[in-house]
Amino acid sequence: PYEVLVIGGGPAGVATSVYTARKGFRTGIAAERFGGQLQDTLGIENLPGTAYTEGPKLSADLDEQVKANAIDKIDLVQAEKLIPAKTEGGMHKVRFANGGELTARAVVLATGARWRNLGVPGEQEYRNKGVAYCPHCDGPLFKGKRIAVIGGGNSGVEAAIDLAKIVDHVTLVEFDTQLRADAVLVDKLKSLDNVEIITSGQTTEITGDGARVNGMIVKDRESGDDREIELAGVFVQIGLVPNTEWLKDSGLELSQHGEIVTDKRGATSLPGIFAAGDATTVPYKQIVVAMGLGAKAGLTAFDYLIRTEPA
Ligand code: FAD
Repeated sequence: PYEVLVIGGGPAGVATSVYTARKGFRTGIAAERFGGQLQDTLGIENLPGTAYTEGPKLSADLDEQVKANAIDKIDLVQAEKLIPAKTEGGMHKVRFANGGELTARAVVLATGARWRNLGVPGEQEYRNKGVAYCPHCDGPLFKGKRIAVIGGGNSGVEAAIDLAKIVDHVTLVEFDTQLRADAVLVDKLKSLDNVEIITSGQTTEITGDGARVNGMIVKDRESGDDREIELAGVFVQIGLVPNTEWLKDSGLELSQHGEIVTDKRGATSLPGIFAAGDATTVPYKQIVVAMGLGAKAGLTAFDYLIRTEPA
């Protein structure tokens, strides 16, 4: 049994494990895929103190730090059930898809999230070659170019406003008959002169020249007509899905979007269970934010362990 068991090996989970191991707690970290979203990321230019790195490189650096701190790393395991302790101070149990089980007095959940995909031809092929998901990360790569944002909810409209400052022109495409973002954002978007808004638009294909994106096809859902739009990049903003499906029957409070509800210290609704990173209700899903929350959840777990009698 562990004193602290972290589920998830992305920036949040690794930060937690480094903090709790350095407090002298026997710490295990279990993940389906170490590095998490970093494994799908090319250039990272917004991590303070590191002017430029790449996702797999940062992931390897995190791995080194796990090794250096004598943390038990359990790789390629998918958690499928959380069985919380019956009494405060008791042992929690996590069951894995391979039939294994691990127990710990404090569990930190850091299973991250995944971007919702459009599921159209060209999207996977041109991922990181013009198809992007993170405006904060990849916006500057499209400086002076024409791009599209798919999705007219808050994240899509915010992304379009943000990108309009950097790029030459933004086409925002919403599937519904109207934008779903807050009115103040929609007004701001409509005030920009380098933005075109398409409603009732269904993106049916992202096209490219074999190396990079060069356009997309949008079907007008009312007339049925296809329109080809030339551009250099497509930002898909149709939602971030937290990897929390496996927690649904655990008794843990999740938000309506499936995010783990945490307080400002990283505590969840269940004693001895903490959470950090993109899987939680925290606003702004970024590496530096996930790392900060991971550290915080680790320190909160430490606090819990020294104040709570083992049951
Ligand atoms: P994740 O990185 O998602 O890690 C989750 C971990 O949990 C993984 O190890 C996963 O395998 C594991 N896991 C999930 N479910 C289970 C389960 N059931 N059982 C066991 N393990 C499980 N942010 C920036 O700050 N700058 C950037 O430049 C940047 N670029 C990005 C580019 C792309 C293409 C993407 C996708 C994201 C980018 N981000 C960027 C966002 C950043 O990657 C995330 O905010 C960050 O990785 C979140 O860390 P996390 O630890 O919370 O979750």
